[in-house]
Amino acid sequence: MKTELAYTKDCLMETTTRPDIAFVCGEGSYLLDQNNRRYLDWVQGWAVNCLGHSPGVVVQALCAQASKLINVGPAFYNEPAIELASLLTSNSCFDRVFFGSSGAEANEGAIKLARKWGRKYKSGAFEIITFTNSFHGRTLATMSASGKAGWDTIFAPQVSGFPKATLNDIESVRALINNQTVAIMLEPIQGEAGVIPANPEFLNALRQICDDHELLLIVDEVQTGCGRTGTLFAYEQHGIEPDIMTLGKGLGGGVPISALLSKQSCSCFEYGDQGGTFSGNPLATSAGVAVIRTLLSDGFLEGSRHVGAQLAAGLVAISKEFNLGEVRGKGALLALELGSNAGPEIVAAARERGLLLNAPRLHCLRFMPALNSSLAEVDEGLILLRQILKELQ
Ligand SMILES: *Cc1c(COP(=O)(O)O)cnc(C)c1O
Repeated sequence: MKTELAYTKDCLMETTTRPDIAFVCGEGSYLLDQNNRRYLDWVQGWAVNCLGHSPGVVVQALCAQASKLINVGPAFYNEPAIELASLLTSNSCFDRVFFGSSGAEANEGAIKLARKWGRKYKSGAFEIITFTNSFHGRTLATMSASGKAGWDTIFAPQVSGFPKATLNDIESVRALINNQTVAIMLEPIQGEAGVIPANPEFLNALRQICDDHELLLIVDEVQTGCGRTGTLFAYEQHGIEPDIMTLGKGLGGGVPISALLSKQSCSCFEYGDQGGTFSGNPLATSAGVAVIRTLLSDGFLEGSRHVGAQLAAGLVAISKEFNLGEVRGKGALLALELGSNAGPEIVAAARERGLLLNAPRLHCLRFMPALNSSLAEVDEGLILLRQILKELQ
């Protein structure tokens, strides 16, 4: 018999459709619901739990830090924040870090930093070229920066200054540049759009355009960063150096923390320009330290690339068998094109069978397993997916 949820759910705002289950326990790749049903989780909090559910290193870091110091406020230094900032800068092309609690907050910071830089060094230029179908968050400015259909009107008026170009179309970018342009901002792989990668040539051309016109290149690595695409950051795979990068999702291994990283040359905030009550709090940054140390440990990222490759190979085989479409993405951020709008139906059927999947668009599935999944877990998920597709045929 099914256990009813202990409290009424009606007190939560209905901002998304949720299945009638509540998860109570998680371990690695698996989740347990209130009826003790087990699920293999390939959503992982939307690419957040890069080390799986409740990973030992994060639990230990949180427990140790919580009993020592949880919060001192952003106007004082604390050790975990300094350690995390130094881990991030010494393993990237960036020099300075500001911590936030969500991806949107980091992107707001990136937008503000670019506008500040434009005010200081480019006669007040403020326009940031972003892309159709992009996703940068749910604050007013980041919704305005996003290129999701319909988002320009729901909370009108928008924050202005985000002209939209087309991903992988360099002429569409060139056409938008004028003397008000200060930056170009993009996701190296558009996650919410259905895992659409920016071409290497396109990213290199953007870097060149930014150099030629003295613009800042901002990469939103909230989804692609922290090992998700097989390297610590996705930009590394393209031989370019952005000026600004944002991180979120995987950075805390499930704990809310985000980061805005900048080169010294554009780290131009002055006192009072940027802040946040929870910025760089020791509890969240201690989780970040545990995560980044783990990602950098011997063989970890290599292992995550094996997970991604095994999953991609399995998806290609499934696509062939069921006459589906393209498999795309990098590392452990993959999508399977369905060739029909069966996404939500497959997601629901998979959940019934104990596999959690995500359909960012009706016509594709997205896969975001823990980076440290075992090869057996990947096989288990692929077998389940094959069974589900067979049943739905
Ligand atoms: C998830 C996501 C965001 C927003 O992050 P939140 O933590 O939900 O604010 C921004 N950009 C990208 C690329 C994302 O995937």
